[in-house]
Amino acid sequence: METHILGFPRIGKNRELKFAQEAYWRGTMAADELAAAARELKRRHWRIQRDANLDYVAVGDFSLYDQMLDATLMVGAIPERFSPLAGGPTPDLLFVMARGDAGHGIPALEMTKWFDANYHYLVPELSADPDFHPHPHPAVADAEQAKELGFTNKAVLIGPFTWLALAKGREGFDKWTLLPPVLDAYRKTLEQLAPHCAVIQLDEPILCTDWLPAGVLRRFASAYGGLKSAASGARLMLATYFGALGAAIPHALATGCDILHIDLKRGAEQLDAVLSALPPDMVLSLGVVDGRNVWKNNFSRTLPVIERAVAALGGNRVMLGTSCSLLHCPVDLDGEDALPEQVRARMAFAVQKCSELDALRRLAEGGDNGLLARNREAVEGAEAHPDTRREEVRKACAAVTAEMFRRASPIGERRAAQAWLKLPLFPATTIGSFPQTPDIRRVRRARKRGELSLRDYKDAIKKEIEGCIKKQEHLGLDVLVHGEAERNDMVEYFGEQLQGFSFTQNGWVQSYGSRCVKPPVIYGDVRREGPMTLEWSLYAQSLTEKPVKGMLTGPVTILAWSFVRDDLERSEVCKQIALAIRDEVADLERAGVRIIQIDEAALREGMPLTAEKAKTYLRWAVDSFRLASSGVKDSTQIHTHMCYSEFNAILAWIAEMDADVISIESSRSGMELLGAFDEFHYPGAVGPGVYDIHSPRVPPQGEILGLLEKALKHIDKNLLWVNPDCGLKTRQWAEVMPALENMMAATRKLRAREM
Ligand code: GLN
Ligand code: ZN
Repeated sequence: METHILGFPRIGKNRELKFAQEAYWRGTMAADELAAAARELKRRHWRIQRDANLDYVAVGDFSLYDQMLDATLMVGAIPERFSPLAGGPTPDLLFVMARGDAGHGIPALEMTKWFDANYHYLVPELSADPDFHPHPHPAVADAEQAKELGFTNKAVLIGPFTWLALAKGREGFDKWTLLPPVLDAYRKTLEQLAPHCAVIQLDEPILCTDWLPAGVLRRFASAYGGLKSAASGARLMLATYFGALGAAIPHALATGCDILHIDLKRGAEQLDAVLSALPPDMVLSLGVVDGRNVWKNNFSRTLPVIERAVAALGGNRVMLGTSCSLLHCPVDLDGEDALPEQVRARMAFAVQKCSELDALRRLAEGGDNGLLARNREAVEGAEAHPDTRREEVRKACAAVTAEMFRRASPIGERRAAQAWLKLPLFPATTIGSFPQTPDIRRVRRARKRGELSLRDYKDAIKKEIEGCIKKQEHLGLDVLVHGEAERNDMVEYFGEQLQGFSFTQNGWVQSYGSRCVKPPVIYGDVRREGPMTLEWSLYAQSLTEKPVKGMLTGPVTILAWSFVRDDLERSEVCKQIALAIRDEVADLERAGVRIIQIDEAALREGMPLTAEKAKTYLRWAVDSFRLASSGVKDSTQIHTHMCYSEFNAILAWIAEMDADVISIESSRSGMELLGAFDEFHYPGAVGPGVYDIHSPRVPPQGEILGLLEKALKHIDKNLLWVNPDCGLKTRQWAEVMPALENMMAATRKLRAREM
């Protein structure tokens, strides 16, 4: 039984890639030094795979920025605006496409989320008759090198259908007409790779979605036939992940590929259908080790799956692999000494997951040596630990009643009950955070290191809050915020105060380019020990007559941006978090907080990739928000904030959240997305962002007024709020103040006109 991983994280155990990239961008590292740093990382990762006894090492999974961008350069889909750089060195072209060039006014490619993962890729841009300028794929040189070093290679590329499906075509032209030239570019690369590789893996996660038009899906198998001949000499692997193949099974099986890889973590339900239809000359790779979590594989649960496949196909037609690339999990557990032992005992990061594959192979082939018992002890011992399983939490979840998901009255009636807030027409507010100055960061860091007493820390934060409230009063905002100076991150802040969470020291995962995140780990039942935000909210409220919004992160977002335990349904974990937030909401209300915002920035991004699974998810996600938010009186106003703009398809679900006010991102689309509000009657109040906080640019008053006027075409004037499109923490005061002054001036003008 052969073993392999779909890809290894490229950032390096100590984020070496990030530091090299950033040094290169700053000009303190030369191009050849950057290349050397990359080479060192690749070799190290190949060695890890070989030392773990895997049959192949992945090449081409490494990228200087993003694997989609590598494929884009390979195809040669380089938009006009980058052509001045086209003749120069590839890394510079790559980095300008990824990051733009502000000096020359060249905007970067757009970036968006890689399916439902927290990784972001650069979106290819296509015009109707593109002039492709193909570049060699870095996998080719890497494969040559790895071969010279004696490794057995499996090259990894994004497949052509996934690449094209994720590309953005200009309106009014069918991007799929470009499939033939795209396939040409792939065939050339496969020809170059084949002599150096035993296997070539083409990633087609798109097959696990229902996003491909039927006509396109019908072209899949024959297109792959052409790729197969180009790869001749190497075995071709079609890799699918992030879900089940479903209706795409016959198309995947008709490709003639040598190996099909399926994800048995997110698509366990597909195994039998695939087994029964697999052509006799096709090998099946089972994605049994989860590439998207930090947990040890539960061997006793995995072995029966492997046995089923072996029984159907025979051992030599079965391969073992990770469910998807390990890009989405941290590099190495070694050195994580600060974690509670029972949590650590249950964990496996990328390095450890490589070894798990070898262990599973040995077990499946009949060897044991206590492997199974040790694994069971680690996994099940930790699952039974009293910090993992808390009976009071289980009881609280079981005691949740239908009433707890419902506000007392429908939204229209609540509006009257909230009149006591005495808000003007077009109430103006912000999304929560204000600039996180170097001073604030210093204070938080000093406190974390124990260099600042709790009292001095609190004084420092309170001083920040005071300044923040003064500025908002000066600006004339109607609903104020405390500014979130105490928060390093909107999820971490809550995780640190909740039982059931743990934090790694070095569990970094690439988010995009050089940006890495270190998600909290939810290992046990979640329980609130006491108020988490009350003190800051009350202090802020004590400084002003205007209402100050309590500011919480919602359960779905806390879940989405953490590594979640795999011994309990995600929906159950979310419910536990919702109950903790519900208690916080109750404390805030009891203390006199009149408006409470519960951010669900990540609601949409956690959505599964097929309509059917999305529906199940949205039901429990929306319910979790409702559970967190509906314990309040009619007179308390609940807000929520969402960070994205493409929600036409889920607007009805957003209405289901039953928040009194939602704020959304819309300034960048020039309010176009508000068209969705014409088709669907949204019952609540809406604050479409009128100021793009992702840019340092100060929007002029007239522009904001124009956006508000546009918004009024779609939203009832009594339901329109005015706010920026997200939190202001990454901005500087020097940008924020004039921008908010302009926002307020525009608001006053509109009020004068509409009153
Ligand atoms: N309240 C948070 C802030 O203002 C919301 C951030 C977000 O939506 N990403 O920073
Ligand atoms: Zn946001």
